[in-house]
Amino acid sequence: MTSTDLADSPTALGPALPGSRVDTARVESLVTDLLVALGEDPAREGLLDTPKRAAAWWSSFLSPEPANAACFPEPYLEGQMVLVDGVSVWSLCEHHLLPMNLRVAAAYVPETEVVGLSKFGRIAQHYAGRLQVQERFTTQVADHLAALVGSEDIAVYVEGLHLCMSMRGVRMEGARTTTVRIRGRFGSDPVLSQQFLTIAARDRAA
Ligand SMILES: [Zn+2]
Repeated sequence: MTSTDLADSPTALGPALPGSRVDTARVESLVTDLLVALGEDPAREGLLDTPKRAAAWWSSFLSPEPANAACFPEPYLEGQMVLVDGVSVWSLCEHHLLPMNLRVAAAYVPETEVVGLSKFGRIAQHYAGRLQVQERFTTQVADHLAALVGSEDIAVYVEGLHLCMSMRGVRMEGARTTTVRIRGRFGSDPVLSQQFLTIAARDRAA
């Protein structure tokens, strides 16, 4: 078994994880100020603990688990594609600070080792726990997966529901954004590519 601890790459893919830098006391005080600026009374009963709860949430959201993952040797892999879909994570749009739900499907073509299936969710969760844009998230998950399996033959499909589209501005509740990153054989082999897209998009929201 080989264990892979892939560090984030802040230079290539945007800011590093900010989790350890969250100043919880300051966030708490800023949320109190925010409530005042919004015309609220932070001393009223329902809001008394809101700054504390909000600060605790920011701290936990920005400190996702590391995406450590392991590969396991497996001799019977000839000609397979492995695809995991239905992974659903919540992230935060960095342009509006509003949530986005990202449904992820990811695939690779194993050669001599397989990735623990639960790791796909962990990888997605890891890159979701920060201020994000869907396009960068898709690239980060793809790069991480390629490094983990040691191959370019990977594909990642992400369907995003952005509350910044659903609850502000144009209010398009049904709008979904799809991003696809296809590398290696998923780009050069039309059958493989088609198989991936058919399965990845099958639960596509209406
Ligand atoms: Zn947005």
